[in-house]
Amino acid sequence: MTSFVDEGLMPTYAPAPVRFVRGEGSWLWDEDGKRYLDFLSGIAVTSLGHCHPRVTEAVRSQAGRLWHVSNLFHNELAPRLAVRIDELVGGGGKVFFSNSGAEANEAAIKLARRFGGHGRHRIIAAYNSFHGRTLAALAATGQPSKWEGFQPLPEGFVHVPYGDISALDAALDGSVAAVMLEAIQGEGGVVVAPNGYLAEVARLCQQRGALVILDEVQTGLGRTGRWFAFQYERIRPDVVTMAKALGNGMPIGACWARSEIADLFVPGDHATTYGGQPLACSAALATLEVMQSQDVPRRAGQAGGALAAALGRLETIREVRGRGLLLGAVLQPDGPDAKEVASRCLGMGLVVNALGKDVIRLAPSLLVAPEEIEVGVGILGAALEAAPEG
Ligand code: PLP
Repeated sequence: MTSFVDEGLMPTYAPAPVRFVRGEGSWLWDEDGKRYLDFLSGIAVTSLGHCHPRVTEAVRSQAGRLWHVSNLFHNELAPRLAVRIDELVGGGGKVFFSNSGAEANEAAIKLARRFGGHGRHRIIAAYNSFHGRTLAALAATGQPSKWEGFQPLPEGFVHVPYGDISALDAALDGSVAAVMLEAIQGEGGVVVAPNGYLAEVARLCQQRGALVILDEVQTGLGRTGRWFAFQYERIRPDVVTMAKALGNGMPIGACWARSEIADLFVPGDHATTYGGQPLACSAALATLEVMQSQDVPRRAGQAGGALAAALGRLETIREVRGRGLLLGAVLQPDGPDAKEVASRCLGMGLVVNALGKDVIRLAPSLLVAPEEIEVGVGILGAALEAAPEG
């Protein structure tokens, strides 16, 4: 039997007993040649499916031309990508490129501190949120289990219940520089904010002079059926962070901010060696081009409707939450726990993951085919019905 001990790696993960060696579209293969339907997409990363030909070709071509130059110099691709992202967010802003979601959020947090200035540095975030594992992003994360043991954290983060506008109203005093929220709490169990919540947050922030930072690292770039999940509310955030799907698997993140806010940074204020390098930007430009030319956000909305409807027909599922193709299937309390279900699914050839005890997250490729949805829901249904092992 294959040994899965990865001796050289720090034990920060507890990986499932499978080693993937190849991917194409919605499918993954392990080293024994077994095929799996990927309904997780590397956690909402490979939104166009694995090894999308256009993105692969763009990276291949850029890899033979120029991989990396320092931000001490101009490159051709970063400004083009920044303009594309600005158009998608709604215009009137500028972008800082990072390598991950946490770093995009770090940039947003530093920008908020620069904006607020002395005595106005606090950031309100939500309980149950997830913003990343670097220290400031962790301090913003409203899940003590993730940060206990790593204190002291950077000071100045306050948490309020997600979706509770009066709690936010009460906390939003003159010491607050920004409110930082996910448009849907992904890691927190695919929790969608009540209708109108984000718009009301934006209204209060505008009234009190605080920034609205929306973390669209998981929800952004078509996943929920719009380019960004905040666009369901027609609000104009001050700062939007994104990563995951931006490079379809190439590590790249971005922090977009309205120009008046973005221009508070001056040279030397913030930097990262790799941010905006040509190779990563080539993947992101190709990803956005495919998403736009194939109307991918709209397709994700439709496919998400079909997936949610099919999941809703399983009696073993109590509730389906989420938007587009970021869905949480909430299990019945008397059934197996979500981890057990995810593990059974893997054995049956479906990749999903568990969020807490009772939610299975589904985040397939945004180009998932109707037949693949049928196969995936069939496996999940069978895994839920399967008799417990042992
Ligand atoms: N923000 C949100 C909403 C996320 O879901 C994640 C990752 O899951 C992050 C930030 C952190 O992104 P990364 O793991 O790329 O640092």
